[in-house]
Amino acid sequence: MTVFSAESFADHEQVVFVSDPDSGLRAIIAIHDTSLGPALGGCRMYPYPSEEDALRDVLRLSRGMTYKAAAAGLDLGGGKAVIIGDPRRQKTPALLQAMGRAVDRMAGRYITAEDVGTTVADFAEVHKTTRHVVGLPVELGGTGDPSPTTALGVFLGLEAAARHRWNGRTLSGRTVAVQGLGNVGWHLCRYLAEAGARLVVADVDEDRTARAAAAFSAEVVRPQAIYAVEADIFAPCAMGAVLNDETLPQLRCAIIGGAANNQLACDAHGERLRERGILYAPDFVINAGGMIRVALERDGFAQALLDDRLKGLAATLSAIFERAERDGKPTQATAIDLAQERLRAARARQAPS
Ligand code: NAD
Repeated sequence: MTVFSAESFADHEQVVFVSDPDSGLRAIIAIHDTSLGPALGGCRMYPYPSEEDALRDVLRLSRGMTYKAAAAGLDLGGGKAVIIGDPRRQKTPALLQAMGRAVDRMAGRYITAEDVGTTVADFAEVHKTTRHVVGLPVELGGTGDPSPTTALGVFLGLEAAARHRWNGRTLSGRTVAVQGLGNVGWHLCRYLAEAGARLVVADVDEDRTARAAAAFSAEVVRPQAIYAVEADIFAPCAMGAVLNDETLPQLRCAIIGGAANNQLACDAHGERLRERGILYAPDFVINAGGMIRVALERDGFAQALLDDRLKGLAATLSAIFERAERDGKPTQATAIDLAQERLRAARARQAPS
């Protein structure tokens, strides 16, 4: 198995392999960058086909968290953890507590949270062996499910995109195609419907689409048909890599912005969207609302502060749109430039004089 030569390993500060034979825990904690503060990122549990797959995933995800925190203006770094295993069969209190002990040994350099395959309730168990956890249930001093805040951030980001694309106009009367009606997508539909947008929705879960039709008068299309819907906005809120060679030619929208992570299959697709005149809201900027919320748990949560930070998210997106247009660059590349500038400034302040 390759480690130092693994793709994207080189710019990571620290990667820790964890084993606890008693509970069956096998996990990897990756700390990408702590220039801005301790590394925050969720702990994913997934039955990876190989250790290489798990390593690749954790390295890719932890770097994304560095960019997300930097672009959101948070004093936090980027990290991530993956547990190798099937969450339906192998997730036990003993395993979660062993994961907590592993996080605790990082002495605050890594702060964990829920992710795919783990729940807010699981982190009540992890919290028994470490205090370096955010996104805890309300009864344990946390702020509960971050998804509604992620949805609000996406909504405010789409408003910013609409203002940029349509000379200050709002979302009222616009058609938005929403892919995925899960924790984030559902709340996003609610905000959009309240703002007077018309909704076209798709989900592989037919109960969810039926409920959206009833609750928001949404038009329902088959999952594969959502890309070709004639809409003002396409909002991917299901899975990654949905903007790819197959889907790009189908798109008939002016703006793309949604909650899903890693929406662009590769960087070249950002350039293709720019060439086609589609305004793309970089995923790690527009979907940072949940991270902003759980980050506030560390310093004492205040609703006014959260509202301010979410307005900041929308303002950052507007600045990215303007700068990308001025420089003739894809918005995703511009967002990465912005995050890297903030990281460089932090490193320069820390460098011995
Ligand atoms: P979720 O699992 O609650 O919802 C995902 C929804 O997508 C489900 O309803 C599922 O049935 C649907 N889906 C799956 N495959 C589909 C397909 N091919 N076509 C249409 N629908 C499909 O997840 P979530 O918490 O709502 O998150 C949505 C996305 O946003 C994920 O990619 C997640 O990683 C990302 N994200 C979530 C948060 C958060 O706060 N929850 C924060 C940042 C990013």
